[in-house]
Amino acid sequence: MEREQGVATLTHIVVLPVPMQGHINPMLQFSKRLASKGLKVTLLTTSSIIKSMKGQASSITIEPIADDTGDIETAETMEAYVDRFKVMFSRSLGDLIEKNKSYGYTTKLVVYDCILLGTLDVARQHGVGGAPFITQSCTIAAIYHHLYQGRIRIPLEEPAVSLPSLPLLRIDDMPSFISQPELYPALLRLCVDDFRNFHEVNWVFCNSFDKLEEEVVSWLSTQWPITNIGPTIPSMYLDKRLKDDKNYDLNVFKPNVDACMKWLDSKEIGTVVYVSFGSLATLGEEQMEELAWALKRSNSYFLWVVRETETKKLPINFLEETSERGMVVTWCPQLEVLAHKAVGCFMTHGGWNSTLEALSLGVPVVSMPQWSDQATNSKFLMDVWKVGIRVKVDEKGIVTREEIELCIKEVMGERGTEIKGNAMKWKKLAREALDEGGSSDKNIDDFVAKIVHT
Ligand code: UDP
Repeated sequence: MEREQGVATLTHIVVLPVPMQGHINPMLQFSKRLASKGLKVTLLTTSSIIKSMKGQASSITIEPIADDTGDIETAETMEAYVDRFKVMFSRSLGDLIEKNKSYGYTTKLVVYDCILLGTLDVARQHGVGGAPFITQSCTIAAIYHHLYQGRIRIPLEEPAVSLPSLPLLRIDDMPSFISQPELYPALLRLCVDDFRNFHEVNWVFCNSFDKLEEEVVSWLSTQWPITNIGPTIPSMYLDKRLKDDKNYDLNVFKPNVDACMKWLDSKEIGTVVYVSFGSLATLGEEQMEELAWALKRSNSYFLWVVRETETKKLPINFLEETSERGMVVTWCPQLEVLAHKAVGCFMTHGGWNSTLEALSLGVPVVSMPQWSDQATNSKFLMDVWKVGIRVKVDEKGIVTREEIELCIKEVMGERGTEIKGNAMKWKKLAREALDEGGSSDKNIDDFVAKIVHT
């Protein structure tokens, strides 16, 4: 056993996420899990991201990528950004391999965000293997793969799409890059191209767990070595007795931790609606106004994350008129909030991290998808996992205050009991997947055992 341990500590893995909140979070937590199993892990990211991370004595190492790559939000095109990233990464990887060699470590694998096309080739040029990491669901990966293989034709012509191992998906359940291909053609190309070389690798990591997406996981495993390692939620949120390495946990925006938690502490169990649309989505002014007045009309307490850039869209007098029932913050510690007993409902855009966090912490949802994979996640939240309701959009493309109010009242009211029961079932299953010997934990152990001995 001691010898095994010794071998394991000499194995070095490099982890390369896209430098955005929703991509770094899961890959950072995965890095920490790998480190807890005895591997040396270096997460490589931009210096601007490193500045927003706190901590030093972490179980993992964080290194800046050579010369930095500029800001993803201001990049001229996504493809140009990815190409530039590849060049910078190549330089950094060479340096990292040399540095670690001098300390006695062998760099064996680069775990890269699957959007970063070409990383596998770069890793191989340095004599290292590669394994892609999917930060969305297995379902989404399967849908893009079906498109790649020609089972979906765009523009979509039929009202619904039937695909192996998936429920019937209406057009508005599909990822927006497919249902509205004219809006983001470059992003669609990127998503579909991701999978080109998945058959050449030994692991395709995904932030999901087997029981959550059983059928599609089983179909995907006929295509690639799909390896679910999620949900990448730190154990301390699943069980208060456990402790995690909190160093470097990323918040691209500064959270108002004390104020949020104190406010929640003052509320009764299950009385608060937590509202957040993640780190990227922006609502139109009219939509923001409908949502704001819906929260007031719901008569529930609400904690609403309105990012700094969005605050000017809040209706005049809204804060004054709702100060008794509501709290608006520019960013919050979402996991701590969802784990708080006062939260009875999560109104979400249905980003994959938020979806997994709601499921793993047993919180019922009202989902209001905006773009990308969110409509598909919302379809699953409502119809497959049955942990919430998806709002309906009117003919003008707006979700009205009446509709939002109705959905919140349903989830917070009588129907909520059944939904909460389902949510608690998923919470238990998520926990089981991560516990010692659970499906995701076993996948990680098998990976570590293999990589150490290659
Ligand atoms: N998040 C947070 N505080 C907030 C809002 C969001 O910590 O106030 C975190 C949330 O826990 C999740 C991530 O930001 O891990 C958002 O990822 P998601 O995939 O849900 O959405 P995206 O930002 O990629 O659209």
